[in-house]
Amino acid sequence: MHECLDTTATVLVGFERVPFIVHKGLICRYGDFFRGAFDGRFKEGKDMEVELKLDSVKDFALFLHWLYAQSVHVPTTSEHKKYAVYEDVRKATTKSKLAPIGSGHAEVDSPLAREGIEERSVSADGDLENSKNTTAAEEFASAAPEDTTTKEISSTVQDREAEGQGTDDEDPGVDQKEDEQTQDCLVDLFVFADCRGVSGLRNNTMSLLTSQRDSDWSLLTEDSERVGRAYSSLSQGSAPCRYLVNEAACWWGADLADLGDYPTDFIADVLRAVLVARSEGKGLEPMWHDNMCILHDHVDTAEETACKAAKKGD
Ligand SMILES: [Zn+2]
Repeated sequence: MHECLDTTATVLVGFERVPFIVHKGLICRYGDFFRGAFDGRFKEGKDMEVELKLDSVKDFALFLHWLYAQSVHVPTTSEHKKYAVYEDVRKATTKSKLAPIGSGHAEVDSPLAREGIEERSVSADGDLENSKNTTAAEEFASAAPEDTTTKEISSTVQDREAEGQGTDDEDPGVDQKEDEQTQDCLVDLFVFADCRGVSGLRNNTMSLLTSQRDSDWSLLTEDSERVGRAYSSLSQGSAPCRYLVNEAACWWGADLADLGDYPTDFIADVLRAVLVARSEGKGLEPMWHDNMCILHDHVDTAEETACKAAKKGD
């Protein structure tokens, strides 16, 4: 274990280049992408830095928490608020997806401004820390060339800063929205884990999503945009897509939302699931109740057996 913890490296995430310090040996244990990103970049006497421009700061912070705690952290209300600026600017200015596994440095479609209000880092134990205060527009103006896109981004950040003034006060509707933010965030985290080939994080994210459903969380499929994002980012055979189909088949009622807002493939998959159940004379049940591992991606049967044994011991 010690050899995993003897060298640290800096990962600069997003266009904001938010620095995260991580133990190199530990992160390289989790997937070919990180091994490829770090191998060969370390030179004696030099700090190792890797840039992941297309990654979301929020996803990466949650990944690091999982890396050190081996459990998925559910963001608090204040964490959702603090990450919202990164996410809003990112969504507004990039249409790109994460680079595929093994690509090393990600290429960017368009520049993003720094969040500005506070730059954050994650320490070795996964705690979020404020590390710097910066004005986003100032940072951006000095770092990026002036063109139409950058003006739009600068304007977006300034708007967000103005909106953010006084947002420490609790929003009356925030509790209701928080679950939805968390659901979005977990779907995004799965997409991150899928792109970066981190199967343990994928599995833990699915376990959390299903346990929250069993605790009467609202349906993930209530949000057609969320379903669309999953279907456009993941394969139809992926655990989240299979989960979404099963959830809709089990729980959707007569008060359906506008089906036209959902991906056609998703609606076809839901219909197929209902028809298959009917032809087999079975009722529809949550697919994970008998065997959670049906939504896991285990490397071998030994890992699956250990996973089932651990679940029985809960
Ligand atoms: Zn399992």
